[in-house]
Amino acid sequence: MTQPLRESTTVAIVGGGVSGLTAGLLLRSRGIDAIVLEQQTRAHVEQRQRAGLVEYRAVRMFEQCGLGGVLRGFPANNYLEVRVDGRSRLLAEDLPGLAAVGKSVPQQALVRGLIAALLADGGDLRFEVTDVALRDLDSDRPAVTYTGQDGRAHEISCDFVAGCDGDRGVSAASVPADALTVHSYDYGIWWLTVLADAPAPKHALMAVGERGYAAQFARGPNASRFYLHCAEGDTVADWPHERIWAELKSRLHQPDLPAGPITATEVFPLRSLIREPMSHGRLFLLGDSAHIIPPMGAKGMNLALFDAEVFASAVRDFTASGDESGLRAYSATCLERTWRYQEYSNWLAEMMHGASGFPVGGGGSFRERIMRARLERLLSSETAARYYAEMFTGLG
Ligand SMILES: Cc1cc2nc3c(=O)[nH]c(=O)nc-3n(C[C@H](O)[C@H](O)[C@H](O)COP(=O)(O)OP(=O)(O)OC[C@H]3O[C@@H](n4cnc5c(N)ncnc54)[C@H](O)[C@@H]3O)c2cc1C
Repeated sequence: MTQPLRESTTVAIVGGGVSGLTAGLLLRSRGIDAIVLEQQTRAHVEQRQRAGLVEYRAVRMFEQCGLGGVLRGFPANNYLEVRVDGRSRLLAEDLPGLAAVGKSVPQQALVRGLIAALLADGGDLRFEVTDVALRDLDSDRPAVTYTGQDGRAHEISCDFVAGCDGDRGVSAASVPADALTVHSYDYGIWWLTVLADAPAPKHALMAVGERGYAAQFARGPNASRFYLHCAEGDTVADWPHERIWAELKSRLHQPDLPAGPITATEVFPLRSLIREPMSHGRLFLLGDSAHIIPPMGAKGMNLALFDAEVFASAVRDFTASGDESGLRAYSATCLERTWRYQEYSNWLAEMMHGASGFPVGGGGSFRERIMRARLERLLSSETAARYYAEMFTGLG
């Protein structure tokens, strides 16, 4: 049997999405070598449309690490328009003392920028790898094996493995079941999501009303992602394009909503999942491999960026001076933030859907009115708006 090609690095990163690429870049900026392994083609990951908002905390992180260039040119995004029964209000507008501004950045554009920056910096990024497997995670020298584009078997021995390969990746699956607690929650809410070549709204927009919750977010200047609360078990076939536009116009109270070609639709349930702890031996789970959060609060991509920063700093401390404290604290640090933002997403989802006649977990008209009162307080109280703004900007 042919021997695998053996190599060595400090960090083997499995997954070349937001968390893996950012971890690779942050490690390089701290003088640490890493190899990033991605199963898809470069073209695929550069076109995969998902999230679209980089919170202020992450913008600041990129700037402080000398990587601000990846976000240059993207527009600011700091207000949320909430349309209640057709009446528009701006949330977190001009809050005194809160000058923190996030950016509207389609995820695929961020990924493109991260790939370009990593390659320009001499980073080692390998696409179209298959058969990825993790070994010896409990030892000081774990290994990642895979089959390369050339069809040959490879083995990378390393100090650490960064599991950045999403919820269904090989990293989370490599942790023994009895070493993990999985906290999961099904909201009982289903969404239809629609990507369309329709002009972006001026502000991120959420609409509450008796026909149900709907939202519109920018995905570049001429593209929008729409969300529509739909019935449990609906499929894309239940939503022909005419029905989508009619429902959006009605729920957004915008009969002249500019329509454009729909490029993708998907129906999915809102769910949360947290794996605890976020490390096992020399394996560290980052981003979606550790936690799934509903898109309600636009935090999935931002939590992935936070994990990458904490991980890269911890590895730097270890390689620079043997200080293991950051690595030991990695899971607790990231979980603490994850839970805080899960609560935020949960609060937002229950309020917006409850106020739209769909109280999560039941409770009928009483619960619906309570959620209306909660939303009204948010829209009229500076103190309540400040909580929202802190979480929205990632400073909470
Ligand atoms: C359809 C969809 C819509 C979303 N919309 C939003 C939104 O509107 N707002 C929001 O905040 N978040 C949204 N999210 C969540 C957000 O995209 C994720 O939280 C974010 O991408 C997490 O980054 P990540 O690096 O952890 O995972 P990913 O970006 O998923 O990257 C994981 C990478 O690992 C690769 N991979 C998987 N298995 C292997 C393997 N065995 N070997 C090598 N590579 C592997 C994958 O190809 C992928 O490139 C959405 C997610 C999805 C799926």
